[in-house]
Amino acid sequence: MSERKVLNKYYPPDFDPSKIPRMKLPKNRQYTVRIMAPFNMKCKTCGEYIYKGKKFNARKEDAENEDYLGIRIYRFYIKCTRCLQEISFKTDPQNTDYEIEEGATRNFMALKLAQEQEKREEDAEKEEEATNPMKLLENRTQQSKQEIELMESLKS
Ligand SMILES: [Zn+2]
Repeated sequence: MSERKVLNKYYPPDFDPSKIPRMKLPKNRQYTVRIMAPFNMKCKTCGEYIYKGKKFNARKEDAENEDYLGIRIYRFYIKCTRCLQEISFKTDPQNTDYEIEEGATRNFMALKLAQEQEKREEDAEKEEEATNPMKLLENRTQQSKQEIELMESLKS
């Protein structure tokens, strides 16, 4: 422990900071900004749909060595609302749009698919409700059968 402390303070003449293993850190500075999702997307990790217009706290940075006719390109990082997987996208000045990079797929159908999924879940719930009385009846039948059997066994 004390040795490590010394190491932290003493830099030998041939000290090369690039040789120290460290976590990969972004070179340029990042800012936290409040943004809205610029398009519908689907998380690659958990399949969650993220709708255009959903608000996020994002980290914003300059996309290094990238520009379009001298227009700076910005990259944003957000986290999936369900699984917290990082998703990144950047501005696309050429098409006055945004481009998905990592963590999600851009999905024009996201809203429609989400509505369909919601409907399927609703239907499944309704079906379960519909089948529950049957299950209840089944359980009752089984119970009566057992009662009869019990009575029969008591008689003999
Ligand atoms: Zn996710």
